Amino acid sequence: MKHDHAAMMEAARCAVVSAAGVCREVQGALEQVRSITKDDKSPVTVADFASQAIVALELRDRLGEISLVAEEASAFLRADEHRPHLEATLAAAREVRPELDEDGLLEAIDLGSGDTKHAGFWTLDPIDGTKGFLRNQQYAIALAFIEDGTPTVGVMGCPNLPRDMGEPLDVPDSEGCLYMAMRNEGVYETSGSDAADKPIRLTRLDHDAGEEIAVCASVEKAHTDLGKVGEILEVLRTEHGEAVGEPVRLDSQCKYAVVARGQADAYLRLPTRKGYIERIWDHAAGSLIAAESGAAVSDVFGRELDFSHGRGLETNKGIVCAPPRLHGLLIGAIESLGIGR
Ligand code: AMP
Ligand code: MG
Repeated sequence: MKHDHAAMMEAARCAVVSAAGVCREVQGALEQVRSITKDDKSPVTVADFASQAIVALELRDRLGEISLVAEEASAFLRADEHRPHLEATLAAAREVRPELDEDGLLEAIDLGSGDTKHAGFWTLDPIDGTKGFLRNQQYAIALAFIEDGTPTVGVMGCPNLPRDMGEPLDVPDSEGCLYMAMRNEGVYETSGSDAADKPIRLTRLDHDAGEEIAVCASVEKAHTDLGKVGEILEVLRTEHGEAVGEPVRLDSQCKYAVVARGQADAYLRLPTRKGYIERIWDHAAGSLIAAESGAAVSDVFGRELDFSHGRGLETNKGIVCAPPRLHGLLIGAIESLGIGR
């Protein structure tokens, strides 16, 4: 089937911008949401569900029937004891969809329970980096279309990510960023809140030998093996004479964009436990964004990410994203250290 990628991109952009607005609203009222739902983690729950509902409705309204595979399902909100969460989610979603009622909200969330068997389907992480969201640091709304196992359209909203690369990454920005990528058509960065801002194309230059290598990685220690990151960099330093800096830590797949725009040179995600399978929505949009800038994206064995095995990247392990020369050095160092075996 032939897809109208331009129309899909426009729908995805509108969907992510609307959802980002809802997430910002919830984040601005963190304490209030916490007090209503009497639960510390509930703001992210509320924002997650509201974001998913908004994205699903925007896509369906603009594109007709869609197949959407998203992280959340409505069962939690349907439970009697979670009534306060349902009410808070509805209030958040009504910020952009004032006509929504409870049933409409729950049905919208369940539009995301599509399956991955279609030749083409959307995948969504309504809030990637939930821990970052709760710390008021980095998080992303990540939406991608997957065709025959490969992301072809990717949009990522990073509501707290500063455009200005001189600004620290752990301080929330008031404007945020939006990334849009289409396979073989490049990746563009624009303002996260100013619709009139002209998108600029990102071109990731290769990393020059000897220039200090800035690696980015998760904040959460359980999500990447920071000790192994250090070992890999030590191999690059001692065996290849590269200069290495301290890793930069940030949550969510914003890390792919940070590599695409040249603020970091590599994103390393090294398995902390055997058997962990990466989720497709954690990498579909981000990996396309990095790849379209010119960076190489693979797993720790140098294998291409394969999105054709359902909800998980079943045949991959970890992530290595860097411009090509550096990517080659990283994969070589990982192999020599036996990481992932
Ligand atoms: P990050 O913000 O890059 O640390 O990634 C957040 C994502 O990590 C979440 O969306 C989870 O799906 C994923 N995650 C959860 N547990 C693990 C784990 N043990 N290893 C790797 N990723 C994980
Ligand atoms: Mg996630």
